[in-house]
Amino acid sequence: MAVATDLIAKTDEQKAITEMVRQFADEKILPNAEHYDHEDEFPAPIVEQMKDLGLFGVTIPEEYGGMGLDLTTYAMIVEELSRGWISISGIVNTHFIGSYLLMKFGTEEQKQKYLARMATGEIRAAFSLSEPECGSDVQAIKTTARKLDGAYEINGQKMWVTNGLLSSLVFVLVKTDPSAEPKYKGMTCFIAEKEPGVSENSGEYAGFTVPPKIKKLGYKGVESTELVFDGYRCPAENILGGEEAGLGQGFVQMMDALEVGRVNVAARGVGIAQRALELALRYSQERKAFGKEIAQHQAIQFKLADMATQVEAARLLTLRAARLKDAGERSDLEAGMAKLFASEAGRFCVEESLRIHGGYGYSKEYEVERLYRDAPLLLIGEGTSEIQRMVIGRKLLQRHKI
Ligand SMILES: Cc1cc2nc3c(=O)[nH]c(=O)nc-3n(C[C@H](O)[C@H](O)[C@H](O)COP(=O)(O)OP(=O)(O)OC[C@H]3O[C@@H](n4cnc5c(N)ncnc54)[C@H](O)[C@@H]3O)c2cc1C
Repeated sequence: MAVATDLIAKTDEQKAITEMVRQFADEKILPNAEHYDHEDEFPAPIVEQMKDLGLFGVTIPEEYGGMGLDLTTYAMIVEELSRGWISISGIVNTHFIGSYLLMKFGTEEQKQKYLARMATGEIRAAFSLSEPECGSDVQAIKTTARKLDGAYEINGQKMWVTNGLLSSLVFVLVKTDPSAEPKYKGMTCFIAEKEPGVSENSGEYAGFTVPPKIKKLGYKGVESTELVFDGYRCPAENILGGEEAGLGQGFVQMMDALEVGRVNVAARGVGIAQRALELALRYSQERKAFGKEIAQHQAIQFKLADMATQVEAARLLTLRAARLKDAGERSDLEAGMAKLFASEAGRFCVEESLRIHGGYGYSKEYEVERLYRDAPLLLIGEGTSEIQRMVIGRKLLQRHKI
């Protein structure tokens, strides 16, 4: 199998695109992230430039106006964006999951209707599983949809929806048969349309409300919101995959998407860890203590060594999971491992970098302070570290059953 031979080798196309995104991160994201983070402001000019670069259509097939690139290349791009600021990758990530769902499960009409406009970034997508009373335990959701006069009426509340306000489409998981056993068979994914940027929707989108954005520790700039559905009517043709094929398939579809979502979060972990390492390498050669650069103290060198080793290992795990998926192999176990390791590596490297910065690491004047607030998100989204260990353990036992 070609997958494992050279995990970090890049094709000419991958080299060109990752260099372009790295330059974009250096010139457009990094110099501005501090401002948008401090103000908790949506980075609209950066997003406009991302549209021009085609970054909303990386994995969307060329026939729908996207670049048609694979998961591996997408992961390389996400690492570079996240090295700049994980909120920027967050603006793309739920959109990527939405386009994955459409490409894999959507009807031809659904693909025609949405993918071309998604590829340009004209419309953006959010992804909504979590609710106020449950996140890890997805089958415990309470939001329902029931058929009334040819359409489905959705009622319930969702929580923690990244891009919840500014998106035009929300891929939302609800219960269409609350009494189904097993529960997952009664769950359906709807493509819920709304007006982007509008809190109280009206007209054909009446009953879809987006409350004010949630105030967060980090991951600023990109909004995370609740969603309230109160009699919101969604046409039957907006069931992902169509009513006949898609009803009751939502859980399976969403879990499939989470597998690529995990590679995506792993790539974000690599990006933030890489940036923390870069900052530590620079600062430790500038700062002097006890008559020499702190980088010359062995204790600091050991920290740098541990960080660099974790970055490299996280990158390899991430690329391996992505390459397996691209090769059509099973990658559920590998995606779980990559997500677990890379998100923990992100947290580890950011904390070590903060320690190396001493008191300045605690100051808002220094970039590492933002990284320290941003990194913990990666331990939570797309399944916490505890949930990843459960996934990995379960998959291991399945693959090695005696
Ligand atoms: C900034 C942000 C953005 C987000 N964006 C989105 C989004 O766009 N769409 C979306 O749907 N969700 C989103 N989420 C929600 C996220 O996916 C959930 O927070 C996450 O899945 C955990 O769920 P929870 O918060 O309900 O925690 P819980 O599930 O209540 O878990 C609480 C704790 O218990 C542990 N735990 C739970 N079950 C077990 C178990 N069986 N064994 C051991 N430990 C367990 C967890 O690991 C955790 O430590 C976002 C969250 C944040 C913070």
